[in-house]
Amino acid sequence: MIELPELPYDRKALAPHISENTINFHYGKHHKAYVDKVNSLIEGGKLATASLEEIVRAAKGTDQGLFNNAAQVWNHTFYWRSMRPNGGGAPKGDIAAMIDRSFGGYDAFSRQFADAGAGQFGSGWAWLVKAGDKLEIRKTPNAETPLTEGVTPLLTMDVWEHAYYLDYQNQRPTYIGKFLSDLVNWDFANENLAR
Ligand code: MN
Repeated sequence: MIELPELPYDRKALAPHISENTINFHYGKHHKAYVDKVNSLIEGGKLATASLEEIVRAAKGTDQGLFNNAAQVWNHTFYWRSMRPNGGGAPKGDIAAMIDRSFGGYDAFSRQFADAGAGQFGSGWAWLVKAGDKLEIRKTPNAETPLTEGVTPLLTMDVWEHAYYLDYQNQRPTYIGKFLSDLVNWDFANENLAR
């Protein structure tokens, strides 16, 4: 059995950039539905007591239905923690130095990250990951996750329509801009970098 993790903040806490209404559907319905589906798929089987990460890794390439749901649980839990109230703006600490080294500065990073999110055709995710001794921006379709690609995920941004449609309709780039200017949680990225 896996569980729906608690949100790290109140459902109203990201407003006005992400509304309580969006959180009610995105966390309360979509994220919960992925958790419930994983539990129905693993019940009574050899993964019934496995951790979420073990389930994602075991299902990769062998059980697409279980992988899709388990990876979506992992990706969403990581996404909620990639944001915080009064977040956004330029990073501080070790992540700031690595961004300078890897991208030539925050402005270049934020342009490339926004382009990755806007350029992901259809549903998916934009990621900041640590690959070897440098940072990279990646995008993944649907439920795909860098967790199974031998890199360390540092931050993610959901670009499925359900992440922004209630607040921004078809304006994905506006949502991406708010994610970068007002929501991104650099403390979380620094914690992941230190692992
Ligand atoms: Mn989502």
